[in-house]
Amino acid sequence: MKILVLNSGSSSIKFKLYEDKTAVASGLVEKIGEGDSKVELKDITKDKKYSREGAIANHEVGLSLVNELFKESGLLHDLDELDGCGHRVVQGGAKLINHCVVDEAVLNEIQRVSVMAPLHNPAHIAGIKTMQKAAPKVKNVAVFDTAFHSTMPDFAYMYALPYEYFEEDKIRKYGFHGTSHSYVSKKAAEFLGIELNKFNAITAHLGNGASVSAIECGKCVDTSMGFTPLEGLMMGTRCGDIDPAIVPYLTKTKGLNPDQIDNIMNKKSGFLGICGFNDLRDVEAQIKKGDKKAKLAQDMYIYRLTKYIGSYFTILPRTDALIFTAGIGENSDLVRKLVCDKLAHLGFELDESVNKGLRGKLCEISKVGSKVKILIVPTDEEFEIATITENLIK
Ligand code: ADP
Repeated sequence: MKILVLNSGSSSIKFKLYEDKTAVASGLVEKIGEGDSKVELKDITKDKKYSREGAIANHEVGLSLVNELFKESGLLHDLDELDGCGHRVVQGGAKLINHCVVDEAVLNEIQRVSVMAPLHNPAHIAGIKTMQKAAPKVKNVAVFDTAFHSTMPDFAYMYALPYEYFEEDKIRKYGFHGTSHSYVSKKAAEFLGIELNKFNAITAHLGNGASVSAIECGKCVDTSMGFTPLEGLMMGTRCGDIDPAIVPYLTKTKGLNPDQIDNIMNKKSGFLGICGFNDLRDVEAQIKKGDKKAKLAQDMYIYRLTKYIGSYFTILPRTDALIFTAGIGENSDLVRKLVCDKLAHLGFELDESVNKGLRGKLCEISKVGSKVKILIVPTDEEFEIATITENLIK
C-alpha cells in the first residue's frame, strides 16, 4: 500500500511516503507564502534529492510541486496513485476522540475546534482540502494528537474553574504529542515483552515542545500538556506551568494585551526566556563556558521534569518503565542522567556506562535489577500515522 503522510503547518508541509510500511521518500515544503520558498524531496532508497525553489503562494501550489517531484523521481506518477493520505491533526476536541477517515462532518468539526489550536488546525484543514482537490479518489485520514489522551479520567482532565466553562467552552485538558506517546509506549511494551494492556509507563517526549504522560494498562491516564500545548514542562520557547494570576498582572503592570502575553509565553519563554538560547545543545555549550543563566535554565528544566515524573510515579499503581524520546530525550545523555539521579531513591537506577554517549537508539539504559526500567525509544510519529491510515482505509 502507498500511503502519504502530511504534517501541514501554517507555512510548511512536511511529508513522507510509505510503501508497505517502509519509508521510501520524505520531504518538506517550506516558507509557503514567502518569496524564497523551497520544496525538497528525498528518495530514501536511492539517497537522491529533488528540489524546486521560488515563490510558493499557498499549500495548493506547494502540493502540486510535491506531485511534480514525485513524478520526476519516478516514485509516483500522480498523487491519485496513493492508497491513502494520513494527516497529522493537532486538536480533535472532545468529539473527535478516534482517528478517522475524513468526510465533510469531520472536516467541519476540525474547523469548529480550530479556535483551540489557531496555529495548527487551519493549516491541517488547508492540507486536507488541498489533497482532496489534487487527488479526489484518495481517502484522507485524520490522526489526532489528542486522541491517545481521550482515556484520561474526568478528575484528571478537568480544571477547577466554574463548571459552565467546561460545558459551554469545552475548557479541559486535552493533551498533545499523543501519536508519539502511543507509539513509544507500544514499542517499549514489545521490547520488554510485556502485554500492552498490562503495561504501566511514564513517557517523556522531550523535543522543542515537551510533554510527559502516565500510561496505565497501555492507556493514557494523565499528561502534562493541557487545553493547549503550553501547559506542563518548561520547553525551548514555552514557559509551561506558571501561576495563572501572572497573566492579568502583566496586563496591568506592563500594559500588555492577551495576544502579546500569549506570544511571550509561547515564543519568548522557556530556555530562550531564561538564558537567550532555545536549543538545548547551545544551552549545554553555554554552561561549559560558565554561563550562569544557562545553568539556571538547565536546573529549572531538570527540576520541573523530575517533579512531573515523580507525580506520575505516585498516581500509577506500579511503574514498569520510564521512556525517553524525541530530540532531547533521545540525544541528551546529560538530561537523562540528571533526571534519573534525582529519581534514584524511587527505584529509577540508570546504568551510566550504557547511557553515556547513547543517541537515537532503542535501548534499555537502567541497571540490571532497577525497579523501574529506563529506556530510550526513538519516536516515529509519521510511521504511526501511516500505520493508522493503512488500518483505517483497509
Ligand atoms: P520538535 O519538537 O521540533 O520535533 P525535536 O524532537 O527535533 O523537536 O527536538 C529538538 C530538541 O532536541 C532541541 O532542543 C535540540 O537541542 C535537542 N537535541 C537534538 N540533538 C541533541 C543533542 N545531541 N544533545 C542535546 N540536545 C539535542
